[in-house]
Amino acid sequence: VFSDGSVWPSVRVEEAWRDGLDAIAITDHIEYKPHKADVSTNHVRSYELAESAAEALGILLVKSAEITRGEPPGHWNALFLTELDSLGTNDYRVAVKSAAEQGAFIFWNHPGWKQPFNQPVWYAEQAEVYERGWLHGAEVVNGDEYNALVHKWCLEKNLTMLGNSDAHQPIALDYDSPLGEHRPVTLVFAREKSVAAIKEALLARRTAVYTQNLLVGKEEFLQPLFQGSIEVRTPRLTIKNKDRVWLQVFNRAPLNFELERRQNLREVTIPAKVTLHAGKTSLISVTGRGAGVTGERELVLPFQVTNLKVAPTQGLSVGLKAQITFKK
Ligand SMILES: [Zn+2]
Repeated sequence: VFSDGSVWPSVRVEEAWRDGLDAIAITDHIEYKPHKADVSTNHVRSYELAESAAEALGILLVKSAEITRGEPPGHWNALFLTELDSLGTNDYRVAVKSAAEQGAFIFWNHPGWKQPFNQPVWYAEQAEVYERGWLHGAEVVNGDEYNALVHKWCLEKNLTMLGNSDAHQPIALDYDSPLGEHRPVTLVFAREKSVAAIKEALLARRTAVYTQNLLVGKEEFLQPLFQGSIEVRTPRLTIKNKDRVWLQVFNRAPLNFELERRQNLREVTIPAKVTLHAGKTSLISVTGRGAGVTGERELVLPFQVTNLKVAPTQGLSVGLKAQITFKK
């Protein structure tokens, strides 16, 4: 409500707690305050009003603001600010510079929004802020939209990938949790649960983005997430000639993994597509090819997880291990 939202700051914290989040940033616009006839125009007021609820519920609260300009340059979020008043200047460069001098983590919000055909354009303004070392990340996901071009830029320019709600109204109006929907979140690979550790991880580009049934991130983060989520419950199989047997794979993650075969093996046939369902054990058929193979082999079944995106058109490559005894 201290810019153009319709939710009191402490209620934002309660919503975050209900959604199981560890940390939030409330980023009211510095320059746009349509409710100023009714509420304070003090930039830090929303943070102050959220603080005690955050402390009581164990939610980390990051002091933040949105630097809001027309296109270009558009909107920037600045996180981990120490003071917000110096951002209220006419020249956006001065505002971004002030945030940078406070050691803030600065990212480009909703690229593409109000740009031609809603396609992101890397303007000279973005290039300038990036070259000065002030731009640290960009929203690969804003609300329910994944942006492939921003994903590509994050990989090419080494920017932190972010997925944010940009919520203005109550979160339950945007995401229907009984239907299994959830707000987009940035998974931050911090070394401990503290504001300082989150900042360190964000500046070091250690994030992934989770939105609906999609995870976006670098291979080094998605691979351990996938491997830590699954468990092959029948790692030892026996195949006689051209028999079909089943690999049972449990997925403890809250999202389905959509697997596609990367290649066929000489010894066995595996399905072209299979889903590892969230919270369940799924079956993957393994069929002998009767190619005269005998004895024990350790096979790595080659799949690509299409909803774990390591690049805009590339899923995570994974291997499922199976110890197979072949008999004639
Ligand atoms: Zn914005």
